[in-house]
Amino acid sequence: MNRKPVVEVIGLGERDLVEARSQAAPVIRAATVLARGGVTILRIGPRGATKQTAIARGEAALTAVRDALVERHDLPAEAYVELDSESYGTPVAPFTDRRFLLPHQDGGHRSFLTPSRLDQPDLDPRERVFSETVYWKRPSHKIYQGFLITNAGDPPGTTCYYNTLTLLWDAFIHRHGRAPDGLSELAMFSMENLRRSKANQATHCSRYLTLGALLGSREIAHHVMPSGPRAESELWPAQYIRLPALCEMADRCPCGSCRGPGERLFCHACAHTLGRTWPEFRRDYEIAVVGDHHDLLIGNNLTQLHAADSQASRTIHPMCIVSDRAEGEAYERWLAAQWRAWYGPLREEPFATQTA
Ligand SMILES: [Zn+2]
Repeated sequence: MNRKPVVEVIGLGERDLVEARSQAAPVIRAATVLARGGVTILRIGPRGATKQTAIARGEAALTAVRDALVERHDLPAEAYVELDSESYGTPVAPFTDRRFLLPHQDGGHRSFLTPSRLDQPDLDPRERVFSETVYWKRPSHKIYQGFLITNAGDPPGTTCYYNTLTLLWDAFIHRHGRAPDGLSELAMFSMENLRRSKANQATHCSRYLTLGALLGSREIAHHVMPSGPRAESELWPAQYIRLPALCEMADRCPCGSCRGPGERLFCHACAHTLGRTWPEFRRDYEIAVVGDHHDLLIGNNLTQLHAADSQASRTIHPMCIVSDRAEGEAYERWLAAQWRAWYGPLREEPFATQTA
C-alpha cells in the first residue's frame, strides 16, 4: 500500500508536444505515474515563455497525457480536458497574507471517491452526486485535477497530496480493530459512509462530502465543510445553530495547535476517524510539493486529496481531465483498476460482478 503519494517531476520539450504528443516518452511516463496512483509535475519547456504560451502548452501537454491514459490505461474515451479561467490571486482571511486550503477534492459536489459497481453492484451512479445545484465552478466530474502555476507567489506556494484509499483503509481499522477482509469489504465501508452523509444532508447542509464523512464519522458535525475549505475559515452562524457541537470543536481541537476554526474542526474529524490529530495526519500521510513558475501539477482527484498553502499573490490556471458523467462500463472498469492500483496484495482480487 502507498502510505504517501509518489511525486515525479517530468520535463517536457516543445518537440514532445508538437510532434510526438501521446507517443512522446515523457508523456507516456506521466501517464504511467498517474495510472499507478502517483502525482506528476510537468515542467514544460522552454522556461521563460509568456503566460499565454505557457497556458497553450499546458493544455497541449494535458491533452497528450489524456490521450496516453486512454490509449494505454483504459481511461474512458469520453474523458476530456477542461480549462477553467485563471484565478485572481488567492483569497485570504482578514489580516493574513496567505491561506491554507484543507485536504479536498476539486468539484467535490460530484467528484469524490466511490467504489466501482464492479465491486459494489448495489451502488447507484446517482449516488455519486452530492449536490446538483451548488458547485464551484463547473458541473463536470473531475477525474484528474491539475493546474498550471502562473504566479508561484513569494515564497512559492506548497501543494500537498494524500492517498484517499490509504485513509479509508486506516479509518476502517480504527473503527473495526482489524484490517478489511478484502477490497469489497472496504468498498462497502466507503458506500455506507457516503450513504450516511447523504441521509443527514438536511442537518449538515454540505454540498461537498467532507473527509470526516468519507471516513465514516458518526458525528454529523464532522460532515460540515468549512468555507473554502480554508483552515482559517470561520463557520457560518447557521451551521453553529443547526449543530451546536460545532461551537466547542471550532474553539478547541485535540492537538491544541490548530490555527483557525476550519482547521480545528478538521483536527476533530481526523482524531475521531483515524485516531490521529491533524499534525499527526500530516506526518503520516502528506507529501508536499513546491511548484515552480509554469509547472503543471496533475493528480488523481478521486483516489487522492490535495491541500494548498499559498501566498495571496499566487495565481493558477486550473486544467483538469473531466467527464460529463461518472458511470458506464468503461468508467466502472477504470475505477475498479484505480482501487486495485493502491493495494498491492489486493491487486489480483476478482471483481464482485462482471456486469457494470
Ligand atoms: Zn488540532
